[in-house]
Order: sequence, then C-alpha cells, then structure tokens
Amino acid sequence: GAVGPIAAFSNSYARLPERFFARLSPAPAPAPELIAFNASLAAELGVDVRGLEPARLAAVFSGAVTPPGAEPIAMAYAGHQFGNFVPQLGDGRAILLGEVLDRYGARRDIQLKGAGRTPFSRGGDGRAALGPVLREYLVSEAMHALGIPTTRALAAVTTGQPVYRDRPAPGAVLTRVASSHIRVGTFQYFAARGDREAVERLCDYVIDRHFPEAREAERPPLALLQAVVERQAQLIARWMQVGFIHGVMNTDNTALSGETIDFGPCAFLDAYDPATSFSAIDEYGRYAYANQPRIAQWNLARFAETLLPLVDADPAKAVERATEAVVAFASRYQERWLAGMREKLGLSGEDDGDLDLVRDLLQAMHDNAADFTLTFRRLCAAAADETADGPRALFANPEAYDRWAARWRARLAADGREPGARAQAMRAVNPAFIPRNHRVEQALAAALDRGDFAPFAELAAVLARPYEDQPAFADYADPPRTEERVFQTFCGT
Ligand code: AMP
Ligand code: MG
Ligand code: MG
Repeated sequence: GAVGPIAAFSNSYARLPERFFARLSPAPAPAPELIAFNASLAAELGVDVRGLEPARLAAVFSGAVTPPGAEPIAMAYAGHQFGNFVPQLGDGRAILLGEVLDRYGARRDIQLKGAGRTPFSRGGDGRAALGPVLREYLVSEAMHALGIPTTRALAAVTTGQPVYRDRPAPGAVLTRVASSHIRVGTFQYFAARGDREAVERLCDYVIDRHFPEAREAERPPLALLQAVVERQAQLIARWMQVGFIHGVMNTDNTALSGETIDFGPCAFLDAYDPATSFSAIDEYGRYAYANQPRIAQWNLARFAETLLPLVDADPAKAVERATEAVVAFASRYQERWLAGMREKLGLSGEDDGDLDLVRDLLQAMHDNAADFTLTFRRLCAAAADETADGPRALFANPEAYDRWAARWRARLAADGREPGARAQAMRAVNPAFIPRNHRVEQALAAALDRGDFAPFAELAAVLARPYEDQPAFADYADPPRTEERVFQTFCGT
C-alpha cells in the first residue's frame, strides 16, 4: 500500500544527467520493524510521520513503501580503496530517496542503507546487518552531539530477513541523512572516464549546493578545491581532538561537504597511542589514528587531479595551482589542530611554547598509557582547583604528569583567566562521554544476542549529552577493564 506525504521532497541530484545515477526501487523487506527513530532530527527535516502507524513507519524506513515525492536513485562513484583505484563502486547497498530543505533552509539527502541490490551491487547482496546499522546510528549521532560535522541517523529498522556474513545475522536498514552524498570518488568516477562535461557539471552542482561563495572567485573550480581542503582540515582536526579513528578513509568515503561519512570499522582511542588502528581490514595500519591528516591530504590530491582541466587551460599552471591548494592542507590542519588543542588545555591566548606544551602532554600520555578522553576531562577540574588530582592517576607514572602539570600551571597563570570560567570553557570542548568501543560492543551484543535494545537506547541517550557530567551514568565515561578491551573492529557490511 501507499502512504501520504511525509516530507516535502525537493530533489536536485535526480535532475542531473542520467549517467550520474541509476533509477530503481528499493526491494521490500518481508517483516520490517522500527527499532530507532530520531524524532528531533525528523522535526529538523520537516519529516512528519505523526499520522503513521508503527508498521507503516517501518515500511517507509525499510524501503517497502516509497513516500510521495521520493525519486529513488543509486549514485555512481569510484574511489581509491586502501590506495588502489576502483573505477566503479557506486551505491551498492544505499538508495537515495531524495532531498528535503530542512528548517534552516539547508538541503539534506535522505538515504536508505541496506534496502536491497542496485546496479552497483557487484557481488554484494545490497543488504546491511543489524550490528553495523546500530553502530552507525550510535556513532554518527554521538559525533553530531560532540559538535563534529557528520551524517546523521534518522531511523533504524530490522527487515525480518537474515543476511549472510560470517554467519547469519538479522538484516536491517539505516536511514541516513547527509548534507549530500557526493564524495571525492564521485568526481573520480567521471574523471577516470575522461568525461569532462560531467566533471564540469558536478563541479557546478557542488559549488551551488555547498560552496556558493566559490562562484564569485576568479577560478571557481580552484576556489572549490580550496574550500574542500579547508573543510577537511577542520574536520580531521576535530576527529583528532576526540580520539576518533575513522578506519576506512578511502576516497569514496570522503564527503565533499566536509561531513564524517561511513562508520564501518570506526573506533575511539582509549589509552593514547598514535599508532592505534582497530580495523580488521586495515592490515598495515594505513588508516591508523596518527596517519589521518596525511591520508586526508592524499585524498585531497586525488580530488585535485579530477579538477585539473578546469583549474587552468595551461596544464602546467593547473598542476601548480592545484598543488599549492593541496599543500596548504598541512598548514590549515596544523593551525586548526593547535587552536583546538589550546582550547582543550584551557588556553585563551597564544604563546610560542604552546605547541611543545601540547606535544609533551601527548608524549607523556603515550609513554604512560593514559586514557585520552579522561585525561582532558580531568584537566578541566584541575584548571579550576590546583589541589585537585586531575588526570594524575591515569598515568602509569604519575610523576610524568606532575612534571608536565607544573609547566601547564605556569602557562595558565600567564594566561590570566578566572579559573571557574576557564574550567567551564574546557568542559565544553573536552567530552566526558564518547562512544567507548566496549560500550558500543556491549550494546550491540545485547541487541543481537538477546533482542534487548535497552542498552542501545541508554547508550544513545548518554552520548546525546557528551559534555555534561551525568553522574547517574558516570560508568559510561570509564575506560574498558582489561577483559572488556576491544582490539579489533569489523566492517561487517
Ligand atoms: P563501504 O565499505 O561501505 O564504503 O562500501 C564500499 C563499496 O562496496 C560501495 O560501493 C558499497 O556500495 C559496496 N558495498 C558494500 N557492502 C555491500 C553489500 N552488502 N552489497 C552491495 N554492495 C556493497
Ligand atoms: Mg563507503
Ligand atoms: Mg606506541
């Protein structure tokens, strides 16, 4: 059966040339059941499902019923996966229902992930398993609550149909919301085919949708590149400041909008170690925590290559201009990162010694296996009260902290802000709660092993307020006990 209108779809990507995507219908799920619905995001999007019974709601968000105004398409894209170019990837298990203008007038994609095969599915089944759907729901919403640009989760539905991975798992569909799903790999798809007209068309589209100010520049494609570089620099700096490890920074998982996208084997640091990598498929640690800025720049170089013919008619000049834009990532990133780290340490002014102060803290944390999130959170209390222990006990050798803290205190004294105000500002940038890997695994296990979604719901609620203390849920801030530690995460498509 049909449903009435649930949103004012206003689709623009489906107006682009037909070779940009494939039109299709989602494959209906046999027995869809709603397991999570993000009412506040729905309100933001103008998605109104008040008149719908739960069963109809589940039908819509599993793809069984296509709401009026939706024009389902699978987007074409390519990408470098672990450094190797794949000329055709595309939405193999994702279907863009359409776009809406949210309450702030911003255009947002609504996409079903796991709603069946598409022309880009290759050997895959087009489905998603419940575990990864819950993980993406939790982590993407946590990133949003942390204030980090990210795709969002509108709904999660089980399909009633098992999917076959290492073993059978319940099938599920995630409804994902993004500023857009255009990736570096979308440009690569057309550039690799020598389809210059399509690259120009896409460039125009992305400028109109995401970077209208680039239109006014002398060279709009170059201005687009510079703007994308800037957003990636901001994004990766934010990741690093909360200890986020994306895990699959392929060019097809790099959104032009500057949002975090694709939460496959992602994870968060517990004890600080820059070499940390969790992903089972990242054998050589290409996407380890500390490599992320370098990889982002590498991905931006791949983006720049697709724009070369548009940047300058003279190929040598095009390379020169594009190279300059990509090289600038390093300083843009470093500037963003240091500014963020100053905030984390409660420094309002700037001092030449700040970079060393930050580096030496990180070195001491690494040497002493100090928990990343808790160290910074406890510094907030230490900033307000000199006698507070702060993060001292988190360091294997607490004297390593003491030595660093003496320098920090001297620097704070010179900074001259009122201690209470400083601590408050620090608490707004140093979260108490992140999606700790072991907590995420526990919530997923309860859902998968016992059909118990209460731990998932409770964790989601705690992660929605990461900068508040929430004493009733204090143990969610704790690092894993030895037996709880997670060593590997799986893409688990
Ligand atoms: P991802 O690892 O999610 O970034 O996906 C990489 C590529 O594999 C994309 O083109 C996906 O659409 C495709 N893909 C991943 N899982 C599946 C699946 N179960 N069925 C079809 N295509 C898939
Ligand atoms: Mg992907
Ligand atoms: Mg090490």
